[in-house]
Amino acid sequence: MFQNEENLLDFLERMGADMEEIQQVQRIYPMKISEHFLRLIKEKDDPIWKQCIPSIEELCDVHNAPDPLKEERDTKVAGLVHRYPDRAVIMISSTCPIYCRFCTRKRKVGRERQIPMKQIFIGTDYIREHQEIRDVLISGGDPLMRTNSEIDIILRELRSITHVEIIRIGTRIPSVVPERITPELVNILKKYHPLYINLHFEHPSEINPSSERALMLLANGGIPLGSQTVLLHGVNDNCEVMKELMQKLVKNRVRPYYLYFCDPVKGVEHFRTSIQKGFEIFRSLQGFTSGLCVPHLIIDSPGGGKVPIIPPEYIICLDEEKAVISNYKGEIYEYSNPKI
Ligand SMILES: *Cc1c(COP(=O)(O)O)cnc(C)c1O
Ligand code: SF4
Repeated sequence: MFQNEENLLDFLERMGADMEEIQQVQRIYPMKISEHFLRLIKEKDDPIWKQCIPSIEELCDVHNAPDPLKEERDTKVAGLVHRYPDRAVIMISSTCPIYCRFCTRKRKVGRERQIPMKQIFIGTDYIREHQEIRDVLISGGDPLMRTNSEIDIILRELRSITHVEIIRIGTRIPSVVPERITPELVNILKKYHPLYINLHFEHPSEINPSSERALMLLANGGIPLGSQTVLLHGVNDNCEVMKELMQKLVKNRVRPYYLYFCDPVKGVEHFRTSIQKGFEIFRSLQGFTSGLCVPHLIIDSPGGGKVPIIPPEYIICLDEEKAVISNYKGEIYEYSNPKI
């Protein structure tokens, strides 16, 4: 976290920010930035700035709903979302090391006190009682905002549930507070394998020697790393930028997992990109670089969960007999169905 509020305000003023606007937005949607992340800003309105510095546009969005994904509807006990048949999300932290301006949980972040451990155990009890849950996603806020010993206790509790096969942690810490990833933390995490970590990287400049060191520690702990990236206007809605980000992730043993269209959440409209833009970016990856660098393109539907979206140009026509398909270069091929 930024230790000295005054330093932050000084910095923003020197960079030419409109301090009055920032104050106005901050009253509705709080601001928080880590020192590491702030140091990545090169100039006003660059891709790092846009992710973390309040913009007046957040207040101009009058159409979007605060919770379009209807998470509240699928919340079974406080902080536990059970929507899919075999997996559930447990939120163990209401705080984050940064308040991303595009956050899907913008309605919540920075407003609540830390989740009491007692509530988390109510969530783990729910998981214990639901044998169908074989995959638990630990989310928040940011789960790695909890102390090492709290993380140890929560993971131990989850691991004591025999039907929980895999545990996943979703965190933005390696890109925002890379120094939080220490050998001690990794030693705790690796006691609870199979444990996966899904990270959040939005721009290639977030991959630098500090975050690379954090990723190395995690990967060396045997933790499979994935990245969930959000397609953001003015940050990464550009084929070259996205390719560089995906390639840098793979170089650091992070497998791009999902590339999300930005959810239509109240206050984030200015970050959204067209579906066509998403297709253009996807098509600029598939075939042009390693398949490992190509994430699934996802729309989180309003309340119905994630839907993978494939650019329609790949399938020109499909009938009982055959498909006419187009490759990454736009060359056309036929693939026929088996004869019966
Ligand atoms: C994203 C999400 C999951 C996990 O989905 P995967 O496709 O398995 O990564 C589970 N539950 C909820 C409520 C989610 O939003
Ligand atoms: S770290 Fe995640 S939960 Fe926290 S503000 Fe950023 S996107 Fe939202």
